[in-house]
Amino acid sequence: MCSVGGGDFNLEIEEIELERYKCNDCGNKFGGMGENVICPSCHSGNVVKI
Ligand SMILES: [Zn+2]
Repeated sequence: MCSVGGGDFNLEIEEIELERYKCNDCGNKFGGMGENVICPSCHSGNVVKI
């Protein structure tokens, strides 16, 4: 319980498979999922799956 000073922080967050998307407006590449993917950078819906 009281394990302090450990550098082991191996969180495996690969259970969720994110699709790769690219924003056509700002060129940002990001991971997303769902039907309505929005660019996290410019909030544009003009994104394509890559
Ligand atoms: Zn964008």
